[in-house]
Amino acid sequence: MSQLFKPSLHTQRHDFVVDFVRRNNPQKVADLGCGECSLLGKLRFHRQIKLLVGVDQNGAKLRKKMHGLAPLSTDYLQPTFDQLCVQLYQGSVTQKDARFRGFDLVTSIELIEHLPLDDLEPFSNVVFGYMAPQTVIISTPNSEFNPLFPGLSGFRHSDHKFEWTRVEFQSWALNVGSEFGYKAEFTGVGRAPPGQEQRIGFCTQIGVFHRLMVVRDGHMFGDNAEDNYPYTLLYSVTYPSLRDDNILRKILVSELLCWAEKLKKEWLEKRTDKLEEANPVDKDERVGEYGDIFWTNSPVPQCHTLHRHVSVPLQLLWTCCPKLRELSGSLSNLRQLIVDDPQIKMNRQRSAVILCSQEQDPGDEDPNDLTDSGYAERSHVEEEH
Ligand code: SAM
Repeated sequence: MSQLFKPSLHTQRHDFVVDFVRRNNPQKVADLGCGECSLLGKLRFHRQIKLLVGVDQNGAKLRKKMHGLAPLSTDYLQPTFDQLCVQLYQGSVTQKDARFRGFDLVTSIELIEHLPLDDLEPFSNVVFGYMAPQTVIISTPNSEFNPLFPGLSGFRHSDHKFEWTRVEFQSWALNVGSEFGYKAEFTGVGRAPPGQEQRIGFCTQIGVFHRLMVVRDGHMFGDNAEDNYPYTLLYSVTYPSLRDDNILRKILVSELLCWAEKLKKEWLEKRTDKLEEANPVDKDERVGEYGDIFWTNSPVPQCHTLHRHVSVPLQLLWTCCPKLRELSGSLSNLRQLIVDDPQIKMNRQRSAVILCSQEQDPGDEDPNDLTDSGYAERSHVEEEH
């Protein structure tokens, strides 16, 4: 049936919602009758959404697909400051569950035609009267389009309990709107052939309902069923976010170590070049010429090695690495976030990162030996920007 359309009707319906999300930036979105979670799978990439929730009465379907909503490896490798929690519930949309209140957008894509007619009233009570989101998007087949499907007799799907004409859908929608305080607009996806658009309408008809009243504290119509939680939570995942201090710390530490090693390497290379040119007598004198990086033999509590150490000031790292600045916001935040990390070794003043001067060979380790390198430690006065 969907071969009639390119992209498929299924894709066009979901793209309609995605486009709405892009234009309206809802933060809390619930998809009712989410089935195989394909709409949720697309919406999770719209990171202004903070809470993305799906419910379907078919738990087996959800279990089969739910892991596809897990964060991708790039979400772990390059987390952003966005926050997203995805949850899936098994339950019926004819029941009120307090966790589904307070949403900005609720979608019901190709769901209502699967409900027995008697369930339409509880469905409207739950969605418009109880959940009372800012916007509801409902899609359902337009039966006027059916004669265009070759060989179709009856409904488009064996589980459909009804299929409505445009007038039937719109009169139901307008009644619901006036009962619960929503304004409905009608559109659709899947165009009829040229010249027949007006007469037949879209293959899938869509109602977009905008709430007219302001809901205070998520309460409306004096309904006191907040404590009901009939749905079963099947899946819940919180995406990695830099707002989580542990994740921010890990990213900062790896960025900082990467830059400290890079600066150390550049400094060592420059130093070797210069020393080759210099009078051997001047060697030690010239060490301090290369910026703020310097040899140190200060005892670093965590660093037991025969090698000399190189001190790379935090201030220098802060200046050189834009990502460190962007992620931490200030030099003192940066220090606070990394200071207790076991991978980071710092000087006593907490103003510089101390690195071994070369790649460490485990065979070199001597826990008692903090050998004096013969180079004097330079005191470092830290300046914060
Ligand atoms: N919305 C999805 C989409 O666009 O791909 C799936 C649509 S599928 C045609 C209809 C879904 O509604 C099925 O997954 C079915 O299990 C679910 N469903 C039917 N009655 C339901 C009810 N009372 N409560 C929750 N889900 C229901």
